Amino acid sequence: MEKLKVAFTALGCRMNHFETSAMEEEFENRGYILTDFSDKADVYVVNTCSVTNDADRSSRKTLRQAKRRNSDAVVVATGCYAQVSPEEIAKMEEVDLVIGNSHKTAVLEIVEQYINENRENKVFIDNIFRKNEFETFFISTFYEGARPILKVQEGCNSFCSFCIIPFARGKVRSGSIDQIESQVKTLVERGFKEIVLTGTQLSQFGYDRKDENLYLLLKRLVKIDGLYRLRLSSMGINELDDELIALITSEEKIAPHFHLSLQSGDDRVLRDMKRNYTTAQYEKVVSEIIKRRPETAIGTDIITGFPTEDEKAFENSYRFVSSLPLAYMHVFTYSARKGTSAEKFKDPVHPQEKKRRTRQMIALSEEKSIAFRKQFLNKKLEVLVISEKNGKKVGLTGNYIHIRFESEKPVNSITEVLLTEVGRERENNTGKEI
Ligand code: SF4
Repeated sequence: MEKLKVAFTALGCRMNHFETSAMEEEFENRGYILTDFSDKADVYVVNTCSVTNDADRSSRKTLRQAKRRNSDAVVVATGCYAQVSPEEIAKMEEVDLVIGNSHKTAVLEIVEQYINENRENKVFIDNIFRKNEFETFFISTFYEGARPILKVQEGCNSFCSFCIIPFARGKVRSGSIDQIESQVKTLVERGFKEIVLTGTQLSQFGYDRKDENLYLLLKRLVKIDGLYRLRLSSMGINELDDELIALITSEEKIAPHFHLSLQSGDDRVLRDMKRNYTTAQYEKVVSEIIKRRPETAIGTDIITGFPTEDEKAFENSYRFVSSLPLAYMHVFTYSARKGTSAEKFKDPVHPQEKKRRTRQMIALSEEKSIAFRKQFLNKKLEVLVISEKNGKKVGLTGNYIHIRFESEKPVNSITEVLLTEVGRERENNTGKEI
């Protein structure tokens, strides 16, 4: 039988990208030909996102694009949008299979069954809260560049009032430290220098396991020979105790770059968001980290236009965020998510006003990003060469500064550069190899 072509695309977070890499490897091992999503394929798999209404919209758009590329193709919607809104997607004539996160490790089997046997069933969804086991996706290589992403945890036990993610990913399930250690060792043996540890809420790693937590996981991984750097994805400040802060601010192998979601700089809005901390607590953690490791890049997430964010609250939020030593912010405009507890607040902030607040926060983020990078101008910085663009190498520092420079050094090697120019965009910086 002629080999089938399969094309994948992942929307949203690093976890989706990791799972897509694992599915690509599985299909390739089964004899499928991996092809680019913009090409004609026999099977298209879209790993959808549902973090905002915009994410739902782009997921639908991507699914339609797939069918337009080949009307005979099998188009598969998997991921968070498929898990939380299966009926909505199942109504789309462009989509052949809707496979929730509950069945994500069975995508290959379901597609094969659909192609070879039964085209009856279209929707494969289970209640995600029934999931107790951490499903291991295994990758032995990484198709998307020099810094493999490794999912070590899934789900979240927080239920912030605006967030749909627990309904898409379920409660916390974590891999075992032994299993993760062997996966990291495999990737290091493959020559990868930096590993990005990810999860839905990384700092809740081990909540479901006895005597295992993020501190113990990191303690184990930093002992791996040949591992150059671990980068941690988004964490919650509630889970950062003194022991963990001491480790991440003293261990050379842990990149001094932490993404600590804040969401609002107003205490009343934080309460309405069910974030379980105050601005004072957030500020205390951030300044403790910066005091112990001054070169650290702290990134954060901010939502504007949350239903109870009136003008005064927004001013408080803006003022508080302005006062923090942040390296960048991801700014999101609030959108009501069906099934979240914030849905009861309706969505009173006028869209124009939301836009104005988002623009103001984005402008602040740009200022902070430039100010952060300028601290390292004319400084000697160690970088990992992560890619090549327009004849120049792109290097990444531990504290997340992307630098373009001329060099013969191959991707995945380490070198030193002098940062000579800081651009407006976060990734637009120039350097000279020394
Ligand atoms: S911590 Fe809150 S915002 Fe983050 S994934 Fe969990 S519920 Fe969502």
